[in-house]
Amino acid sequence: MVTSLNDLPTDLLIGGQWKPAASGRRIDVFNPSSEELIATVADAAPEDAVSAVDAAAAAAPGWAATSARQRSEILRRCFELMQRDAETLARLISLENGKALNDARGEVAYAAEFFRWFAEEAVRINGDIGMSPSGAARIVVQYQPVGIAFLVTPWNFPAAMATRKIAPALAAGCTCILKPATETPLTAYAVAALLMEAGVPPGVVNVVTSSMAGKLANAVLDDPRVRKLSFTGSTEVGRVLLKKAADQIINCSMELGGNAPFVVFDDADIDQAVEGAMVAKMRNGGEACTAANRFYVHRKVLAEFSERLAQRMSALKVDDGERPDTQCGPLVNAASVAKIAQLVADAQAKGARVLAGGTRLDRPGHFYAPTVLADVPLNADLLHEEIFGPVAPIVGFEDEAEAIRLANDTEYGLVAYVYTRDLARGLRVSEQIESGMIALNRGLVSDPAAPFGGVKQSGIGREGAHHGILEFCEAKYIAATW
Ligand code: NAP
Repeated sequence: MVTSLNDLPTDLLIGGQWKPAASGRRIDVFNPSSEELIATVADAAPEDAVSAVDAAAAAAPGWAATSARQRSEILRRCFELMQRDAETLARLISLENGKALNDARGEVAYAAEFFRWFAEEAVRINGDIGMSPSGAARIVVQYQPVGIAFLVTPWNFPAAMATRKIAPALAAGCTCILKPATETPLTAYAVAALLMEAGVPPGVVNVVTSSMAGKLANAVLDDPRVRKLSFTGSTEVGRVLLKKAADQIINCSMELGGNAPFVVFDDADIDQAVEGAMVAKMRNGGEACTAANRFYVHRKVLAEFSERLAQRMSALKVDDGERPDTQCGPLVNAASVAKIAQLVADAQAKGARVLAGGTRLDRPGHFYAPTVLADVPLNADLLHEEIFGPVAPIVGFEDEAEAIRLANDTEYGLVAYVYTRDLARGLRVSEQIESGMIALNRGLVSDPAAPFGGVKQSGIGREGAHHGILEFCEAKYIAATW
C-alpha cells in the first residue's frame, strides 16, 4: 500500500525486484505548481531495459499458461486496490503532473476502470469456427497473446495511459515493459506497487524510467523477443518509433496527437455547448489529446457563444494543482508555457482578439491564464498544431459544408465535438468528419468500454472496449478437416 511519497518505490521494477539503475544515475522529478524538487527516480540505461526484457521473457510462458479466470481475478484485485488508494494516487498525480486534484481524482477513477473492464474481457477472448465456402475445411480461429509488449506512455494521464495498456496486455496473457514519461514517473511506480500487491507475478510487469528514451526504446525494439509496441504520445515520436519497429516487424498500436474541432451549429443548445466546451477544453487544463483545439461556431450564435465561453474561462480558479478548490492547475513544464505563449502571440499578430486571458501568470510554477481568442485567422499556427493548454481559439462559419471542410483541415483525426439539436444533421456531420471518435452534444468521449483511437496521423489501433484486448492478441487460424 502506498500511503505517502516516503514509501513510494523509485527504483526500476525488473523481475519483481526494485532495482537501482546499473549506472546508479537518478532523474529529478519536479512539482509544476511550485517548481520544487519532489523526488528522484532511477535512470535506466539501455542495458537495464534489456534486463527488463529478460524478466518479461522469463515470465511469459507461465503467464500465458494461466487460466483466463486467474488473470481476470488478479486484474479485478488491481481495480479494487486502485480504488482503495484512490486519494493517495490522485494527490501523487496532482503533485508531479500539476493537474487540479479534481481532474486527478477523475483520472484515477478512469484508470482503475481499465482493470475492471479488462478483468471482465479476459474471460471473453472467444475465437470462432466456420466452414470454408468451398466445403474443403473447417476454419478454426483462436486468439493467442501477441508476446512481450513494450508500453510507452506520456505524462498527461500518467495513471490512465499506463492502465489502458497494462490491463489488456495482462488480460490477453502478455508480459510487458512499461516506459513512463520522465515528467511523471512516480505514478507509474505507485501503480506498479499495487499490481505486485494484487498478485501479478514477478516479471509480468516491469517498469523502467529513463532520461534516454530513444536509446532505451531502440534497445528494446531491436530485441527479437519483443513482439508488440503500444505507444501513446506525440505524432512526432510515434513516427520515429514506427520506423524503428519496422526493423523487427513489430506489431504496433499508436495513440498519437490530436487537433480536435468543436463545431457549434446555430440550432445547438448554447447552454449545453458552453458546458461541453468547458469540459472538452479544460479537462486536465487543456493537456489532453482529446482537448478541443479549434472552435468553429455558426455566425448566428458566434457572439453569444464566444462571450459566454470567455466569461466561464475567466472565472476559473487557477492555482496549485493540489489545492482542493483549484479548477485549472499549471502546465507540466516551462517549455509548455513558452510554446503556448508563442502560439497566442502568433494568433494575435495575425489579427486574433483576446476575449479572456492571453498571459502567463506572474507567480512560481508553470501557469498560463485560461484564454479565449476570437476572430482567429485560418493561418494562425494554433489552428494547425496541438495547443495542449488552456487556450480556446474561435472561428466563425456560414454553413454545414464549410464547418465540415474546416473540421477536416488537419492531418490529425482523433476526436471531434459536434453540437446541434438536429439529430439527422448530427449523424450526417459525424459520418463526414475524419476522426476516430465523435462527441455528439457531449464534451467527453473517454470510456473504458468504448474503442478509443484516431485516424490519419492520430494513430493506429484502438484502446478500451473489446478492441483493446485484440491489440494484444494474434488470430491463429487452423485449417482443419475432421
Ligand atoms: P511524447 O514527447 O511523444 O512522449 C511520450 C513518451 O515517449 C514518453 O514516455 C517519452 O519519454 C517517450 N519518448 C520520447 N522520445 C522518444 C523516443 N525517441 N523514443 C522512444 N520514446 C520516446 O509525448 P508527451 O509530451 O509525453 O505527451 C503528449 C502527447 O501525447 C500529445 O501529442 C498528446 O496528444 C499525446 N497523447 C495521445 C493520446 C491518445 O490516446 N491518442 C493520449 C494522451 C496523450 P520522455 O518523457 O522521457 O521524453
